[in-house]
Amino acid sequence: MKKIFILIVLIAFIASASIAADISGRWSGKVGDNIEIVLDIKTEGKKLLGSVSTASGSMLIVDGKVSGDSFSFTVIADGKSNPYKGKVEGENMSLTVTYQEKEYNGTLRKLKSNELSPLASRMRPQMTEYWEPVPKIVTPGPYLGMVPAPSDAVVLFDGKDLSQWKSKKDGGDAKWKVENGLFTVEKGTGDITTRQKFGDYQLHIEWKIPEDIQGQSQGRGNSGLFLQDLSNELNIPEYWYEVQILDNYNNPTYVNGQAGSIYKQNPPLVNAMRKPGEWNVYDVSYTAPRFKEDGSLFSPARVTVIHNGILVQDNYEIKGHTAYIGLPAYKAAHGKAPITLQDHGDPSKAISFRNIWIRER
Ligand code: MG
Repeated sequence: MKKIFILIVLIAFIASASIAADISGRWSGKVGDNIEIVLDIKTEGKKLLGSVSTASGSMLIVDGKVSGDSFSFTVIADGKSNPYKGKVEGENMSLTVTYQEKEYNGTLRKLKSNELSPLASRMRPQMTEYWEPVPKIVTPGPYLGMVPAPSDAVVLFDGKDLSQWKSKKDGGDAKWKVENGLFTVEKGTGDITTRQKFGDYQLHIEWKIPEDIQGQSQGRGNSGLFLQDLSNELNIPEYWYEVQILDNYNNPTYVNGQAGSIYKQNPPLVNAMRKPGEWNVYDVSYTAPRFKEDGSLFSPARVTVIHNGILVQDNYEIKGHTAYIGLPAYKAAHGKAPITLQDHGDPSKAISFRNIWIRER
């Protein structure tokens, strides 16, 4: 009897030791005196990466370590480092935060992938949309034809196929439709993303709104150019930096969401749209963010955008990821990342792209 008992204990011990706790994901709960907190975290071997969010903002995790189902990390706020430690048991996490030499305890719950964090859901999308001042309309000069790729460019679309791209959803071949030297969003198949990763670069891309487009505001030719898409790279849902693509020819929307905006951050300097049926051109110069060795932000990303030959973003300092709800933040350190084109899912007719090339620098 005793032997059987020892065996059961041994099996239970081996089982619990071999099933590593799944720490990666989004965790939400309260610590101390009712302070709402969200952790967006991911393990990389024995390292823990990610961010901590409270109602007052997001902070990068520094010096994160994982050991079995326990972990520890630091966040730096107001120049002081605040240690965190915790332990995961299934879908629950116990967390201890040391702040100004006092300990605060709490329990967090793992959120499902489609579940909004309570911090985000307390904000509404409209809270980060503004409508004035409206950028003035500048009519671009005539479109003189495609600008051919220079000798050192990586050609991301040459009119023939989408071999440089893959489906973001399943990593398989891109399912958008190539025809007559251009390609068109195949709605419902999801975003497409480059197979190659990029850091700092110059990008040329052409896009066209269908002549008979219907709809209004954000529901009219919506797509997006994600300058670096970290969602798959860092396993953080909806984490990218976006230049908006939208039909804003006689179609008002919130100005920090119109074509040429850094979505939900900065409106374009002017509205440089060509009318539906004509080709729009973006020439983008992008500098990726830099991170310190400890994972904290060293310098934010910067972007210059020329729309149809007209400057619309002038070395703009990107505030963090593109947040549809809530505030932008740099959630985790990263290097090179793919570029993504968005299948937005608005009900209007699908838009097209062509002549895409990139020069790394
Ligand atoms: Mg968009």
